[in-house]
Amino acid sequence: MSGRAYLVGAGPGDPGLLTVRAAELIAAADVVLHDRLVPPEALAGARADAELVYVGKEGGGEQMPQQEIDRLLVEHARAGKLVVRLKGGDPFVFGRGGEEALVCRAAGIPFEVVPGITAGVAAPAYAGIPVTHRELASGVAFVTGHEDPAKPESALDWPALAAFPGTLVFYMGVRALPRIAERLMAAGRAPDEPAAVVERGTLPGQRTLVASLADVAERAAAEGIRAPAITLVGPVVALRDELAWLEARPLHGRTVAVTRARAEASALAARLRALGATVIEAPAIRIRPLAADLPDLEAYDLLCVTSPNGAHELFARLAAAGADARTLAGTRIAAIGPGTARALAEHGIRADVVPARAVAEGLIEALAGLAVRRALVVRAREGRVVLPDALRARGAEVDVLALYETVAESLDEPTARAAARADYLTFTSASTVRFFLAAAGTLDGPRLASIGPATSAALREAGFEPALEADPHTPDGLVAALVADAAR
Ligand code: SAH
Repeated sequence: MSGRAYLVGAGPGDPGLLTVRAAELIAAADVVLHDRLVPPEALAGARADAELVYVGKEGGGEQMPQQEIDRLLVEHARAGKLVVRLKGGDPFVFGRGGEEALVCRAAGIPFEVVPGITAGVAAPAYAGIPVTHRELASGVAFVTGHEDPAKPESALDWPALAAFPGTLVFYMGVRALPRIAERLMAAGRAPDEPAAVVERGTLPGQRTLVASLADVAERAAAEGIRAPAITLVGPVVALRDELAWLEARPLHGRTVAVTRARAEASALAARLRALGATVIEAPAIRIRPLAADLPDLEAYDLLCVTSPNGAHELFARLAAAGADARTLAGTRIAAIGPGTARALAEHGIRADVVPARAVAEGLIEALAGLAVRRALVVRAREGRVVLPDALRARGAEVDVLALYETVAESLDEPTARAAARADYLTFTSASTVRFFLAAAGTLDGPRLASIGPATSAALREAGFEPALEADPHTPDGLVAALVADAAR
């Protein structure tokens, strides 16, 4: 049985710029041979039993010799494995992908090539610099700045590059910059031509420096620009003045820590990232289902569900009992807020009552006109008593069914430290406040963002004043409050 090799581009760094084909192959791979500039999120998609082999440079150290990489590629494929050779950007753009394809061919190993978005196009795009433009650049040249130092003669044709009627894109270390600028000017490129260096293109913390060809090297050194970086030379660079969209995003440059449970964090994190924030996922809590039998649900005329987790747990129990949403056909159903209503909708239930204010008090108000004889409140073990008490005060018989409890999620040191340095710490429940504080020791430093009054009360109880409180008390409301605060 023969294996197969795939030379795959992982894109420039932003995990969203990985192609669908690359993700598919990573998920199918037996072996992934990967480089340094490959986004960790791309590797997270590999099978748990896949062999992930790092073949890049170790923090300024030695690159694994190319022959060794070639050997691994051939050996694994010969052993019948599906091998993904994963490279930053595009595999055929300064990535030795061409050489590795030739090695496969010589060894008789079937191979395919999956192009990736190359840094020379992606970094400028994220910097608001189109590499071509009808009036400013009718061509673009990708140039390697790493020349072989063993060769006395420059491999690059500097007069041709200087005369090139378009944008020059240099892939290189920053050390090469003075030499490149000098040679270009010596060969006739105008010293006042705009130049840009894009550091960590498409990654969090992307930085763009704009200068003239004459002073770009000095400025880059002064500002401590580091690898990976792309240098652009050409009039298109001036378009950045108008087209810099990345920095214009409302949460650009802000770091936001999300403390809610891992399972719920990703939607909030994705929304924050889309607005430009760097997100630190620092889950402080975890949901643990409780062993509890469902009562006869048909005996109740009102079912109150007070959290999305409550909704999911309820339906998990129904399913385990071989039942489904029809069990609730005759019961009025109240959700505490839009998030819980959405969770119920996922299980085929449209809530009869959804208050505008997503707190127990809001639900009590919304239920005011309703005659209730027997109610069941589905919630967490540590839930508030306001709702059952209010229903009882109105003469209803109320049972409380705790289906899960919120417990501490262990928070590792680096994550806790990163969260403590964030611009914002977000809290989406009183439990995230309590457990995060217990793990981190203090909430001093970041601005504290609370989803609503109960969470704010928990913060104040712990001696911290929230900088902002969401209204409405939903994740969307929290995001909106962060955007408003960041614009202060
Ligand atoms: N195959 C890759 C290039 C590999 S050469 C591609 O197609 O993008 C490595 C060089 O690419 C680095 O020295 C740097 O100049 C550039 N590079 C890679 N990723 C980059 C990034 N995220 N931002 C800026 N430059 C990057």
